[in-house]
Amino acid sequence: MEPGVRGGRHVAPARPGPFHRRPTPPHARFQRRHQELTGPPHHDWTFMPQPRRILIVGAGIAGLTLANALRDTDAEIRLVDIDSRPIGSGVGLSGNALRALDAHGLLQPVLAGSSLSMHLHMCEADGTTLVYSERPQPEGQPYPDNVVLSRKVLADILLGSLIERGITVQDGVTITEVRQAGDQVITDFTDGESGTFDLVVGADGFNSLIRRRVFGEEFRTGALGQAGYRWLTMGIPSITHGRMYLGADGLKLGLYPLPGNTIYAFVTKPNGRIVRGSDRLVRTEMIEALKQFTFPEAARIRADLPPSNEIHFGPFSAFLMPAPWYRGRVVLIGDAAHVMPPHGSSGAAMAIEDAHVLAEELKQHSCVEEALERFMGRRFRRTQRAVRQSVRQCLAENAADGTGLESPPTIDPAEAKEYWEYLREPI
Ligand SMILES: Cc1cc2nc3c(=O)[nH]c(=O)nc-3n(C[C@H](O)[C@H](O)[C@H](O)COP(=O)(O)OP(=O)(O)OC[C@H]3O[C@@H](n4cnc5c(N)ncnc54)[C@H](O)[C@@H]3O)c2cc1C
Repeated sequence: MEPGVRGGRHVAPARPGPFHRRPTPPHARFQRRHQELTGPPHHDWTFMPQPRRILIVGAGIAGLTLANALRDTDAEIRLVDIDSRPIGSGVGLSGNALRALDAHGLLQPVLAGSSLSMHLHMCEADGTTLVYSERPQPEGQPYPDNVVLSRKVLADILLGSLIERGITVQDGVTITEVRQAGDQVITDFTDGESGTFDLVVGADGFNSLIRRRVFGEEFRTGALGQAGYRWLTMGIPSITHGRMYLGADGLKLGLYPLPGNTIYAFVTKPNGRIVRGSDRLVRTEMIEALKQFTFPEAARIRADLPPSNEIHFGPFSAFLMPAPWYRGRVVLIGDAAHVMPPHGSSGAAMAIEDAHVLAEELKQHSCVEEALERFMGRRFRRTQRAVRQSVRQCLAENAADGTGLESPPTIDPAEAKEYWEYLREPI
């Protein structure tokens, strides 16, 4: 393996010793002098130190976006991930996610790697259209309202723009201990190192270790009774835009063309009908599930199924961390704070928005506590709405399980439109 690269990712070289402190910044010297003259500040936030050493645990969509959003500051950023290979195959990014990425110079590369996905098209199993609803680019909005891209492409873009700033991911590393001491957080890592940080960000996904360690084991996700299978397959000329096909008993197949003659395919199944065998059976299970689809391209999708180890399986769950998502100098973002099923296509978008808002507040407020409080004020209601919307759609599909309905309850286009409009609101 090439030194410094693991799993296709750049890996930071092993550090020689404890995480080094930066030299005292000028504003801290000014603060000290000010305190000598006036005594300790009483809730005078102006002179609180800025967070200069930031540990981000988790280099997924939230963690990488945050590192990007802070790359124009002088913050010392350490990014660790237990296994940073992106999970799953494709991801849809709504306009609000693109807006947040645009604020950090990431819009153009993301658009270049994406396909437009500007409507909701739902079909019967035989291909007959059930719902067709446009999602036009609103006037004056300089980015589309929805795109789809490969998760690996997104991760490479987010990672690539960090290299120039010298930020890399320490892959295969996580924390073993987190202790708060005043306004600092001391962490021990699995590579034997320790570090002292002004802020620790838990961006470690739906099963967040940071959440469990710092907030408690009681904050857990709840299963929704549905699961997804995702894979990439060869492009088909007649599949020119994203479509979903509804089968019996809540089963749904989605096909979204990606750049590079590829299709992002997924199947969602109510759990009652999921029998997850050993990994090698996943492909067989999918071939069986896909037999009920009779639209012209269905046979080709079935024939081109990749081996089981290239089909990502995962049960859907939901969770919303009660506010505040911070304890002292440790804060959660992305799936660590809120988990939703993919039905609203919003989990990644909310993770990106969290990262953007947190960075914005940290840049605007030298007092970390104030920044965290303001971050929380801007994020709770919005993510609550996204979780509710996605869960509602997921449960509506589950309701069809066992009824044998050919066309199970589906997304109401008017409701979808209202949600898209909500997403466009300023954050
Ligand atoms: C089937 C499916 C389809 C989806 N489709 C969409 C979609 O189209 N659009 C959309 O907006 N959202 C979608 N989502 C949701 C979206 O994938 C997530 O909301 C998003 O990935 C959250 O980003 P994150 O960075 O918070 O978490 P993740 O992307 O999960 O990243 C977490 C990172 O933390 C790392 N990590 C975990 N534990 C540790 C640890 N202990 N120490 C260090 N690192 C750790 C992981 O290795 C990972 O790299 C979908 C979800 C599913 C399940």
